[in-house]
Amino acid sequence: MLKIINPATEQVIATIETDTQTSVAQKFSEAQKAQPQWAALPYKTRKEAIQRFGELLLTHQERLAQILTSEMGKPIAQSRGEIASTEGRLAFFLEQSEKALAAQSFNEPNAKMQETLTWEPLGVIANISAWNYPYFVGTNVFIPALLTGNAVLYKPSEFSSLSGLEMSKLLYEAGVPSAIFAPIIGTGEVGSYLLSQPLNGVFFTGSYATGAKIASAVRDRMIRVNLELGGKDPAYVREDVDVKAAADSLAEGAFYNSGQSCCSIERIYVHASIAEQFIKQFVEAVKGYVTGDPADSKTFVGPLTRSAQLDVLEQQTKDALEKGAKLLLGGKRLEREGYFFEPTVLINVNHTMSVMRDESFGPIIGIQVVQSDEEALALMQDTPYGLTAGVYTQDTAKAKQLLSHIQAGTAYVNCCDRVVPYLPWSGRGHSGLGSTQSFEGIRAFLQPKAWHIRH
Ligand code: NAD
Repeated sequence: MLKIINPATEQVIATIETDTQTSVAQKFSEAQKAQPQWAALPYKTRKEAIQRFGELLLTHQERLAQILTSEMGKPIAQSRGEIASTEGRLAFFLEQSEKALAAQSFNEPNAKMQETLTWEPLGVIANISAWNYPYFVGTNVFIPALLTGNAVLYKPSEFSSLSGLEMSKLLYEAGVPSAIFAPIIGTGEVGSYLLSQPLNGVFFTGSYATGAKIASAVRDRMIRVNLELGGKDPAYVREDVDVKAAADSLAEGAFYNSGQSCCSIERIYVHASIAEQFIKQFVEAVKGYVTGDPADSKTFVGPLTRSAQLDVLEQQTKDALEKGAKLLLGGKRLEREGYFFEPTVLINVNHTMSVMRDESFGPIIGIQVVQSDEEALALMQDTPYGLTAGVYTQDTAKAKQLLSHIQAGTAYVNCCDRVVPYLPWSGRGHSGLGSTQSFEGIRAFLQPKAWHIRH
């Protein structure tokens, strides 16, 4: 059994049954049997089911948002936003998946040799998912997978299983057969049962450490592996910016979802000539955030989802202070029940400190002063991760030139922490392999077949 704990109150809010090696094998075998029929349906039938799922998300938005907030502590306004935006994102997949499935012919219709390209689904895929945006990171995988004719064994995180089960119910109500989409409930151990099945693909969202284990578990199987992992996303503020606008944007990027976004701003470099003014504005912006009860619509920073992460943030703060950093805000747990850490701002930081090197995944930020573009670039490059990087400046050409030297899947100019369905979401280095979203992220669920037909 899995106990679901509300991170704001530390109360057990539900106890749910977990999967076993046997139940996982059973779900796999049912999915394998049903998948060819699902793939053979006209595209329109699958499309209608997913359209209906999108409508149901909106019908049940408030209830789903309450569940999400109660099990992972996301501030309620942000939970509502995630569910509404998920519905919006489905339109792209609905429109583009049919195109991704279309055959392509390379010859005149009456040519003796017909050379054609068709696309086939992978088969049965595992979708092993994270808790921080269960609606976004779940649907980014299982919606295009289903639309292109795959069956999905979906393992929500143990910290967002209630939301995972709700999405499953809505898919069934929308017309997706239960054999084609099956939730797999439990911790990492249950995830490893899933990996032991003869899957045709693994699509994982989570930490680098688990991603590396997953890549290693399936390395001999020659199956499609897509890994969306962590980050240590930097932003550089040049001297020519509107300081307040940059500070407001970066504070939001660092503290939205209580700092628990894969593309949260995790480190900031600011040019010395505007550093004092920028830091002042940044601290003002953070002081304006309401921290506390995530069920309150005014709250911007809620609890951490996992209690263990409190120790990481405490350690990062302690390490930074011991090495000479200065604390401007926060630095400790809130004195109340729940896994709350005060929004924390550190300056006088450098790259010997964990807060500037290791993923924090919480409401904490280090701001480092730099003397030049070159110094900022070298520091931004100093990481094994490569998810996103940003530059704030009025000189777009300069920003593009700096960002072209950075190994990251996404480059932001005067913005941060944003994802759109038509651009690929991909990490480099320790941030992962492959893409979700965009046409690339739909093709990820398909394999090509080349036909050579002589008449
Ligand atoms: P996690 O790695 O702890 O867990 C992710 C999933 O893997 C969970 O469902 C977990 O049960 C499962 N799992 C754990 N061990 C396993 C094993 N041995 N075999 C199979 N499955 C196993 O990550 P998390 O705490 O859920 O998520 C936070 C991390 O995810 C952060 O690093 C964050 O940056 C990253 N993330 C990345 C993206 C992206 O798009 N790049 C998006 C969201 C989150």
